[in-house]
Amino acid sequence: MVGWCGRVGYDSESAGEVVLIDIDHILERNRGWAERQIRADPDLFRLLAKGQQPEMLWIGCSDSRVSPNLIMDLPPGDVFVHRNVANLVVPSDPSLLSVLQFAVEVLGVRRVVVCGHYGCAGVAAFLKGDPGGPAGDWLDNLHPVMRAYRSDLAGLNGDHLAQRLSELSVVDQVRKVAATAIVRDAWDAGADLEIHGLVYRIDNGRLRPLCRRTAGGALVLDSGRRQ
Ligand code: ZN
Repeated sequence: MVGWCGRVGYDSESAGEVVLIDIDHILERNRGWAERQIRADPDLFRLLAKGQQPEMLWIGCSDSRVSPNLIMDLPPGDVFVHRNVANLVVPSDPSLLSVLQFAVEVLGVRRVVVCGHYGCAGVAAFLKGDPGGPAGDWLDNLHPVMRAYRSDLAGLNGDHLAQRLSELSVVDQVRKVAATAIVRDAWDAGADLEIHGLVYRIDNGRLRPLCRRTAGGALVLDSGRRQ
């Protein structure tokens, strides 16, 4: 495949013995984790088994370093999650739409977060050239973002272009979430639902707000500018 990045930032020489792929090791870690949770909160799993009441839907990248519960320091049950390559909201994607529908109509989430991140292999592959196959078809969904923000991206290249495209893509995906019939119907029915765009820095573990959209309002960038 042309343009599709492999293991980014991984050094097998210095990583030591890789044991996480050993399923027995995974099961052992799972046992230890479950026991620690019970020690911290004996009722946790009993309550989780009764049902979920998350207040947030997270739409993020599949990147292994951007795990929503971990980076927001939230326990199981607090975040409903949809992840795909480059955190894209494609209005014809039945997987994303069914997650959004369930989150809004059944769970009644009050926040939808679209989170991008710097150093995204999907964005890098798109900029490098069509990686081909399903990934190429999927990443073609970034072309409209490039066109919509042509003037913002003009003159940028390399990491600067990738970073700015990652940010602008989040803003574009927030706009797409707001335009779905699911969200518009919820707002028409008076739902207290906000959509937030964030970007995550892998090199310092910090989230930064980019934009937000509320019922009946314009999309507001973090700078305060309305779009
Ligand atoms: Zn990514």
